[in-house]
Amino acid sequence: MVTFECPTCGRMFSVPRRQDAPYRPFCTERCKLVDLGRWLDGTYNLIEPLPGDAPATPDRDPPDEE
Ligand SMILES: [Zn+2]
Repeated sequence: MVTFECPTCGRMFSVPRRQDAPYRPFCTERCKLVDLGRWLDGTYNLIEPLPGDAPATPDRDPPDEE
């Protein structure tokens, strides 16, 4: 038994074998297409920060306030 979590709808689903989930990691063809549509729409914008978001400051300690 193999379990996947669909990235589109968040639903967990299980199949006997990986070959039995043709749209993995998506649960259905519809979810796969929805995800593809998001990419094409630019919803997944992983390079540019969204306007108004604070700039990312990874791996930095917060500044001392005093
Ligand atoms: Zn799904």
